[in-house]
Amino acid sequence: MKPFEHFAPDSVGEVLDLLQSIPKAKLIAGGTDLLLQMKQGSAQPDTVISLKNVEELRGFATRKARFRLGAGMTLRGITRSPELKKHFPGLVYAASVVASEQIRSLATVGGNICNASPSADLIPPLLALDAVAHIVSRDGQRDIPLADFFKGPGKTILKSGEILLSLFLPQPSGNMFYSKHAPRQFMDLAVVGVAVRLQKNQGMVREARVALGAVGPTPLRAKKTEALLTGKTLTPKLMLEAGEMAADECSPIDDIRGSAWYRKRMIKIHVRRNLEALL
Ligand SMILES: Cc1cc2nc3c(=O)[nH]c(=O)nc-3n(C[C@H](O)[C@H](O)[C@H](O)COP(=O)(O)OP(=O)(O)OC[C@H]3O[C@@H](n4cnc5c(N)ncnc54)[C@H](O)[C@@H]3O)c2cc1C
Repeated sequence: MKPFEHFAPDSVGEVLDLLQSIPKAKLIAGGTDLLLQMKQGSAQPDTVISLKNVEELRGFATRKARFRLGAGMTLRGITRSPELKKHFPGLVYAASVVASEQIRSLATVGGNICNASPSADLIPPLLALDAVAHIVSRDGQRDIPLADFFKGPGKTILKSGEILLSLFLPQPSGNMFYSKHAPRQFMDLAVVGVAVRLQKNQGMVREARVALGAVGPTPLRAKKTEALLTGKTLTPKLMLEAGEMAADECSPIDDIRGSAWYRKRMIKIHVRRNLEALL
């Protein structure tokens, strides 16, 4: 690995000052993605700024009828949070199926998002929950729906000098279910990841969210499928149609972990199964 300079500031203000004076510096949270990229040579920063000591990036709290999830919260922290278990069990489940306990105790939700891997496990549930990314820089702050955060594999809308500080989650409405399809039960990346959230009223779907991972350059919302479900009562036929429509809405590639054909088939099955589970 190429030698690099390392800073470990204690506050967001110091991180932003460092980013302003060294624009090419790379942020590191748990390092479970970045260190591998540095070892393999795909990332070769001269300067690395650690977020480990920054208290403002941690924690989960209620704020004015919505929730704030710190970008620096570890996945282990998410799986151990009674508050998150109570309000967002689908998100907690998604964190629990990432890698191993050792990795989860380092890996952060912010790193999972900012690494922008199409197969990242926390992104589909956060999309289904209508999460909003709270971004700060020395020029100010902005709130962006997470659905607009990703530009391609490994690419986000974050500009030089910006960091993801936290995520805002609206009060949960309805139930959300995440399922991950991977050949191995543990320590495997998703071949597909599917999050479905439904808010129902007297058996009828009032609001639907269907978010898909590992089936396109970025995780995506299957908006036609959401529209198909909205205003209807779930029937076996509708759930089958929703699975088929979601498979049509995604554009997976063939790779070592599965062909495009197989991924579409898995989307069809997982969307239908998640709907059945929510029914
Ligand atoms: C063996 C192994 C198995 C894995 N299995 C899975 C799996 O099953 N599912 C899965 O989804 N992932 C998996 N991963 C990937 C990884 O663990 C996760 O993506 C993790 O959540 C990344 O978080 P991190 O804190 O380690 O990120 P880091 O490696 O520290 O950072 C990742 C990227 O995000 C940027 N970044 C981090 N925080 C911020 C911030 N607050 N603001 C702006 N930019 C930021 C960094 O600059 C870097 O570019 C696995 C990794 C390993 C090594």
